[in-house]
Amino acid sequence: MNPYDEPLKDCPYCKSEMEADWVDVGVGIVQCGPYHCMNCGASEIGPEMKYEELKDENGNYAGMGKLLNPEDFTEEEIATGYYKEKVSPYANTVNGEIVDHVTAKEMYNIGMLDDKDI
Ligand SMILES: [Zn+2]
Repeated sequence: MNPYDEPLKDCPYCKSEMEADWVDVGVGIVQCGPYHCMNCGASEIGPEMKYEELKDENGNYAGMGKLLNPEDFTEEEIATGYYKEKVSPYANTVNGEIVDHVTAKEMYNIGMLDDKDI
């Protein structure tokens, strides 16, 4: 696979193709925004889904345990890992509409990027 190919995913709700925002880091691209469905408005849930960190007997990281904040999501959102008809609070937005990182920087520079309460 070409390191500059932006992988697409199918929306878990409406099955449309979803795109994410990617940034060129010189040797390829890294995802810098959540996957978002332009058709139904679903978006990927990221680090706001908090899991218990499991430790082994020596206190070292041993994987992820149960979800610590299930009250923040619906059962369907927990199962899919995507917000339904909702933009991730980690996405860059202007007037609530998701924008890529290039647009986000331009909007930030002129004070138009939405403030995030996170
Ligand atoms: Zn969708």
